[in-house]
Amino acid sequence: MPADAPDIRSILNRIDFDRHRVKPGERIDLDKIDPEGDGAFDGDRADAEAMFETLNDRLEVLQELLFAEGKHRVLIVLQAMDCGGKDGVIRRVFDGVNPAGVNVASFKVPTSVELAHDYLWRVHPHVPGSGEMVLFNRSHYEDVLVVRVLDLVPEARWRKRYDHIRSFEQLLVDEGTTILKFFLHIDRDEQAERLRERLADPEKRWKFRLGDLDARRAWDAYMRAFEDAIEHTTTTDAPWYVIPANRKWYRDLVCVATIVEALERLDMRFPPAEEGVEGVVIE
Ligand code: AMP
Ligand code: MG
Repeated sequence: MPADAPDIRSILNRIDFDRHRVKPGERIDLDKIDPEGDGAFDGDRADAEAMFETLNDRLEVLQELLFAEGKHRVLIVLQAMDCGGKDGVIRRVFDGVNPAGVNVASFKVPTSVELAHDYLWRVHPHVPGSGEMVLFNRSHYEDVLVVRVLDLVPEARWRKRYDHIRSFEQLLVDEGTTILKFFLHIDRDEQAERLRERLADPEKRWKFRLGDLDARRAWDAYMRAFEDAIEHTTTTDAPWYVIPANRKWYRDLVCVATIVEALERLDMRFPPAEEGVEGVVIE
C-alpha cells in the first residue's frame, strides 16, 4: 500500500458509497433522491473541496500506475440531463491527470452510417485497452433513453437492449475492464438556472440547443427512462451510482472518490525496473 494510503482511506471513509450505488434488484425512484443531497457534509463545502484536492492528486498517481502496469482497463460512463454536469466532471475530476492515458468518447446523434448498424457498433471501438481509462460522455444508454422518450424505435426493440447492454458490459468486465456508471442527478429548477446562465454567457451560449428545451419538457419521461435503465443494468460488476449533482462540489467529490476507491482496489504496482538497471551510471 502507498505511504499516503491511510490519509486516502480516511477520506474515502467519509463518503457513503453504499447510499449512491444502486444494488442489483433495487427499485429506484428518482423523485425521492434529493439532488441537493451532500451526505454527511451538511453544507461544509470547504472541507469537501480540500478532500477533493487530495483525491484528485491521488487519481493522478493511480492513473500513472494503471498506465505503467498496463494490466487493467477502466471505463467510466457519464449520463445526465442537459446541464447535469458531465462536462464539468470531465474537466474537474480529471484535472491534472496525464492526457496520454485518458480518452473521452462523446456520443452524439448517430450518423446515417451508425444508424445503419446495431447501436453497439459505434460504441465498442471506444472501450479502453489495457492501461487505459476512457470516459464516455453519453453512451450506449442513449439508446434506451432519448430513443425511448422520442420513440425513435419501437418499444419491442429497445426493451431488449437492457439485456444486450448487460451482456456487453459483462463481456468487457470478464476481459479485464472495471466499469463505473454515474448518473448525475439534478432537478428541473437547477437545470433552469444553468440553462439561463448558459444563455447569458457568450462563452457558453454555443452549447445551448433548442432541442434541449424539448428534453426539458419531457423531464418526467426521461426520469422514468433513467430509472428503468439503471434498475435493469446495474450489476455487481458494472454498478450505477446515482449522484446528487445540484451541488457541484459534492458531485465532484463523490465522482473522484468512487473512481479512486475502485482503482485502489486493483492494488496496482509499478513494474520492476529492467534486469541489469541497478548500478547503471549515466555518463
Ligand atoms: P450533447 O452531448 O449535449 O452535445 O448532445 C448530444 C445529443 O445527441 C443529445 O441530444 C443526445 O440525446 C443525442 N444522442 C446521443 N446518442 C443518441 C442516440 N443513440 N440516438 C439519438 N440521439 C442521441
Ligand atoms: Mg447539450
